[in-house]
Amino acid sequence: MTTAAAPQTRPFEAEVAQVLHLVTHSLYSHKEIFLRELVSNASDACDKLRFEAIASPELLAGEGELRIEVGSDKAARTITLRDTGIGMDRDEVVANLGSIASPGPRRFLEAMSGEQKADARLIGQFGVGFYSAFVVADRVTVLTRRAGAPAEAGVKWESDGRGEYTLEEALVPERGTTVILHLKPGEDEFLDDWKLRSLIRAYSDHVAFPIRVPKRAAAGKDDETQADAAPEWETANDASALWTKPKSEIPDEDYRRFYASLGHDFNAPAAWTHNRVEGSQSFTTLLYLPAQPPLDVLMGGRDERKGLKLYIKRVFIMDAAQELLPNYLRFVRGVVDADDLPLNVSREILQHNRQLERIKGACVKRVLDLVEKLSRDAPEAFAAFLKAFGNTLKEGIVEDAGNRERIAKLLRFASTKGEGAAQAVSLDDYVGRMAAGQDAIWYVTADGHKAAAGSPQLEAFKARGIEVLLMSDRIDAWMVGHLHEYAGKPLRHVAKGELPLDGAEKKRQEDAAKAAAPLLDRLGALLGERVEQVRVSARLTDSPSCLALAEHEMAPHLAHLLREAGQAVPENRPTLEINPQHPLLRRIEDETDEARAADLATLLLEQAELTAGAPLADPAAFVQRINRLLG
Ligand code: ADP
Ligand code: MG
Repeated sequence: MTTAAAPQTRPFEAEVAQVLHLVTHSLYSHKEIFLRELVSNASDACDKLRFEAIASPELLAGEGELRIEVGSDKAARTITLRDTGIGMDRDEVVANLGSIASPGPRRFLEAMSGEQKADARLIGQFGVGFYSAFVVADRVTVLTRRAGAPAEAGVKWESDGRGEYTLEEALVPERGTTVILHLKPGEDEFLDDWKLRSLIRAYSDHVAFPIRVPKRAAAGKDDETQADAAPEWETANDASALWTKPKSEIPDEDYRRFYASLGHDFNAPAAWTHNRVEGSQSFTTLLYLPAQPPLDVLMGGRDERKGLKLYIKRVFIMDAAQELLPNYLRFVRGVVDADDLPLNVSREILQHNRQLERIKGACVKRVLDLVEKLSRDAPEAFAAFLKAFGNTLKEGIVEDAGNRERIAKLLRFASTKGEGAAQAVSLDDYVGRMAAGQDAIWYVTADGHKAAAGSPQLEAFKARGIEVLLMSDRIDAWMVGHLHEYAGKPLRHVAKGELPLDGAEKKRQEDAAKAAAPLLDRLGALLGERVEQVRVSARLTDSPSCLALAEHEMAPHLAHLLREAGQAVPENRPTLEINPQHPLLRRIEDETDEARAADLATLLLEQAELTAGAPLADPAAFVQRINRLLG
């Protein structure tokens, strides 16, 4: 007992120490964010207690009210935040304030070492918000006692943020957590009551628990009399759940502020949608589209999604993005408040809950409505949205067959009739200007816009004035493989299958094939096992050769991508198409030296593979071959 009472010094785990180093040495902008982060933790702690108290009401014994207090002491140069939330026991303190329980610290370090400027405002997105205290404080003391534990079971944690912290037993008379910031020299502005109040209003107005600050001194009272008086508190924030108010009573500014505290994101959201459904099952949704990709969308795995909070009758239950939104909408932030779910619901129950399925369906619909509205009413914001989330949205084509057409309608592509690499052509644009008699939506996929725009298979389409969509994002080949049709028109890859030819064209094609028969035979013999077939192309006007794909064959650039990613992709022997009019083919025809003819034929195949995005099997041999032919 006596030894246990002695303070114990422990090192921070390595990545936490690195986070702290970065926080104390590099974060100079927006220092005030520490207040939002600590208030947000206090609010989370109150949420957790309210949730646990559903099953164990005795946890609320003593101090019944869930609240947060924020005050400062000018003489001691401290800011103190106290909450009457869940508190922490010793193990929780060790786990939460010093070790790496999540990938957060690593991701934060990665983000900060990359392009991101060292902006303190980002910290909350990585689950390391607590450490922002050290942006303004050179010593932080935490006193905490878990709800339900006796006063003697309190814990005191203290650190100067330099690699170690101390831990000791403490008598903590009331449930919850107190965080005391001992300010660094030069940070005195935060001691000012007005400053604290204005920061609370700006950043934490819609925290659903009251945030109390010391009542302002009446005019004429000097500081001393104030210090002597027992503190009287007043509430500095709105302290209501924003989404429960009628829409007409919520100014846009309040929606924006709520978003900022919800998403730890300082960029204004692109759009939001706030709805109440009444009926056999009643619920409220408030969903936001961020303007910038939240960092967890950029860097995080798909498996630990945050961003959508589930409330039941205003009681926070859990982060339920996983249960309430499909993966392809993982950028959405917001709140769902359901009236009719049982309060003691667990994650396991949620995963198979019919009512929740309905709410999920409603969320998806609301989000797609919102994006659609953005595309109609705010073209610039919509373009920015697609730039940030277009590729994530494309996953929906694969994932959400029921909404496939709706999602496809929202996508934009580069096209042979668009402007350069700009992804601005919708499928509706395309279908609206299809040539008379054109019965398919044509596209090409490639690794990069230049490669797509330079595909030899486009030549015949250009000659006929048929528009082709140029798809060059990594996800496109996979996505479009699941989009078989749009508006009743099939989507077809320009390299796949037979081109639709009219009578005269068919005749010309047959004649050309007949005339080239000996050449085809010769090429077949020269290339042997390396090709499935050599045939005369209807796709080419200028290039000597290209690859043609069978209906279900994977585009070579995609096969390459998947192999690089370690996946087993079946080897297909390519079908080579040639343009007998091209001088290179003439040369092969006339070549009497078999070795030279073999070099030329190989080159013909290699260039077709290269333009299709397949890598050279043997670059050195390729270079030698070129040199032989040039020499
Ligand atoms: P996050 O809030 O994203 O989890 P933080 O770094 O802000 O990350 O906080 C780390 C953890 O410390 C919290 O998840 C919580 O478990 C614990 N914690 C921080 N502040 C409090 C508090 N006031 N009351 C109870 N637990 C807290
Ligand atoms: Mg936090």
